[in-house]
Amino acid sequence: MSDQTSELQDLDTARAKADVEADRACLCCRKTFRSAGFGARVCPRCKTTTAWRTGAGLLGA
Ligand SMILES: [Zn+2]
Repeated sequence: MSDQTSELQDLDTARAKADVEADRACLCCRKTFRSAGFGARVCPRCKTTTAWRTGAGLLGA
């Protein structure tokens, strides 16, 4: 069953590779910005806007 273990390791590697700094489209303004990872999908500029904070608050409520 060493093949299965190898597959799992490959998935982990792929996930880690995707969760790195890269150019991504902002979820808010759709502009491409430098994202630090999966947790950064909104550009720094939009994060400072009231609209984004309001939307995040609604999602969290
Ligand atoms: Zn943006």
